[in-house]
Amino acid sequence: MTDFTTTTDAQGIATIVWDVPERSMNVLSLEGLAALAALIEGALGDPEVRGVVITSGKADFAGGMDLNVIARMKAEAGAEPARGLFEGIMRMHGVLRRIELAGMDPKTKKGGKPVVAALPGTALGIGYEIPLACHRIIAAANPKARIGLPEILVGIFPGAGGTTRLARRLGAMAAAPYLLEGRTLAPDKALAAGLIDEVVAPEALIARAKEWILGAKDADLVKPWDQRGWKMPGGAPYTPEGFMTFLGASAMVMGRTQGVYPAAKALLSAVYEGALVPFDTALRIEARRFTQVLMHPSSGAMIRSLFISKQALEKGARRPEGVPDQSVRRLGVLGAGMMGAGIAQVAAAAGIEVVLIDADAAAAERGKATVAAAFAKAQKRGAMAPERAEAALARILPTADYAALAGVDLIVEAVFEDPKVKAEVTARAEAAAGPEAIFASNTSTLPISDLARASARPAQFVGIHFFSPVDRMNLVEIIRGRDTGARAVAKALDFVRQLRKTPIVVEDARFFYANRCIIPYINEGLRMVGEGVVPALIENAARLAGMPVGPLQLVDETSIELGVRIARATRAAMGADYPDDAVDQVLMRLADLGRLGRKAGAGLYDYGAGGERTGLWPGLGQIWPAAAVQPDVAEVQARLLMIQALEAVRAHEAGVLTDIREGDVGAILGWGFAPWSGGPFSWLDMQGAAEAVATCEGLSARHGPRFAPPAALRAMAERGARFYPDAAA
Ligand code: NAD
Repeated sequence: MTDFTTTTDAQGIATIVWDVPERSMNVLSLEGLAALAALIEGALGDPEVRGVVITSGKADFAGGMDLNVIARMKAEAGAEPARGLFEGIMRMHGVLRRIELAGMDPKTKKGGKPVVAALPGTALGIGYEIPLACHRIIAAANPKARIGLPEILVGIFPGAGGTTRLARRLGAMAAAPYLLEGRTLAPDKALAAGLIDEVVAPEALIARAKEWILGAKDADLVKPWDQRGWKMPGGAPYTPEGFMTFLGASAMVMGRTQGVYPAAKALLSAVYEGALVPFDTALRIEARRFTQVLMHPSSGAMIRSLFISKQALEKGARRPEGVPDQSVRRLGVLGAGMMGAGIAQVAAAAGIEVVLIDADAAAAERGKATVAAAFAKAQKRGAMAPERAEAALARILPTADYAALAGVDLIVEAVFEDPKVKAEVTARAEAAAGPEAIFASNTSTLPISDLARASARPAQFVGIHFFSPVDRMNLVEIIRGRDTGARAVAKALDFVRQLRKTPIVVEDARFFYANRCIIPYINEGLRMVGEGVVPALIENAARLAGMPVGPLQLVDETSIELGVRIARATRAAMGADYPDDAVDQVLMRLADLGRLGRKAGAGLYDYGAGGERTGLWPGLGQIWPAAAVQPDVAEVQARLLMIQALEAVRAHEAGVLTDIREGDVGAILGWGFAPWSGGPFSWLDMQGAAEAVATCEGLSARHGPRFAPPAALRAMAERGARFYPDAAA
């Protein structure tokens, strides 16, 4: 069985069908590429064949490259991985360029055979780069399909000619959202944006492709960039328009990425340098830049966490074995507040019936109204069809009557963070639902094992911790309590899969995983304010380290009130061991001044009438005057990143995290830990344990024992061990 097969019809049109055996989505492997190359050669060399359609035997065209290919090209090149990559990439360019030139005479540009890409559905990454090399791209009108080049989102860039071809097809400026942001579009929008050439009814796809081939003339096969006198749309670099574009793009990329993502910079270089030279040279430049990115440790770490590990977790890497499918059909949500309404929203959108309960009917109705407003907004953005929104909304039944819970198979509780209230609703809901129903709490701070005491069936009690806002945050922490059974964990995982979110499974300990690590980050920022580090230095250092939001902004967003509440509860739980007096002094002072964060319109930042940040509050400098000697940016960065990474290591050491992949994926999706690093464990591996221990010792001597390296890290340093033992150094 092979990934590509071909048949030739009576009119001499060869149809190459991509259909990777035993996979629901086509992805390109090295073997697949060789098979495609052979079929293309066969078709071009066969005098009976007058044109070629490349299509798919599946509902979609292709999801992209099998990213393991990159690892293989590197490994197979032995001592010269960069050469192996470069040559592998150039071979890929060779195949696609062969399609593009289609056997035409190099001088007259005549005699080529038309090649059409016929896309029944989604075409991403290499799945769109192959069509870009064809002479016409025709897509079926399939609203579910996505077309584009999302590579940048996993730390690489389109390296099979997609960068060079799309920049030349649209111009650098117009191509920027697709190349630099990885934006993908449904076929109708892709047509309007110029990514594809035609959209037709699904049943007419192949017929239309053949019709185009039969009518194609020599001139239709010559790409604009292969024509004499071609000029880059929107201007090449040394033109007045091009100058503006490239200067603006560089500034934009640096502004957005703070220079920490090698892929964005390399992509821009490939476009800029490529625009100055003929097409084939541009492809070589793209290949060199792509090799450079693939050799960068950040890319390897991002691919591992954001692609390989994330997908493994979504596919159930942590699902208990032997438990049959637990997909949720009917869901009960207790509490129709911010989180409850959000959970009802994503579940209903995923096709699940929802009973949404609050203390009285009016409150439940308000929850449903929140969902309706969210759907209306999505419709306005064009992100949700009106019929879909209407159907989803109709799935939500708001009520105060627990009897409506009869027949639900999962209950998610999101009432006030108060053990008494939670215990009461647990008992009532369990009595109303059947004995098989699984009960989950969305608590952010209360131990699951304690809450399970209110349950008559603790083996069916589990934590499902969503993050706010529920519709945008894709991580879900599943917490196993002392008595939580395998079916409850499986149920939670199957529910998260239905919602198309990413699960991690953690043990029951204070703040679980994500909040446990984010709190020290916030605290370190506040501590520095107290020490007289200039607040702007703290915020900028965090952003320059690749954190999406500085710690002070984050305190304001989550609210200082919540910070004070958590600090009080932690202090009560830890007693004399409580280590964060210095933090609390800053926090309590702000609270006393009524500067409670963004919602209050005043916090560490000032806010305008519309709630927008207008700058750091100048009063901070009066309460905590700037120290005469300010730390280096690097020192502030080291403190802010290391304090999070150390907490992740401690969570792993303590068994709260059992799988470092979950630690890395959870850190990036849960709280935005510097995504360029691949997560805290990848970041530590990048430095090496010995170097990390030395950094910690220095930080510990200068700033206190919270930076003392954990025993596990020391042991790794002694053995020269890594968290990911198989990864290349
Ligand atoms: P919220 O105050 O917005 O909503 C709580 C809802 O519960 C309210 O609508 C309230 O009327 C309802 N409620 C209270 N007592 C009830 C009862 N006896 N029966 C039925 N309904 C009752 O709170 P929230 O922010 O949505 O948080 C809910 C839960 O989610 C908490 O456990 C919280 O720790 C957790 N959580 C919150 C966040 C967050 O960012 N806000 C994130 C993750 C988890």
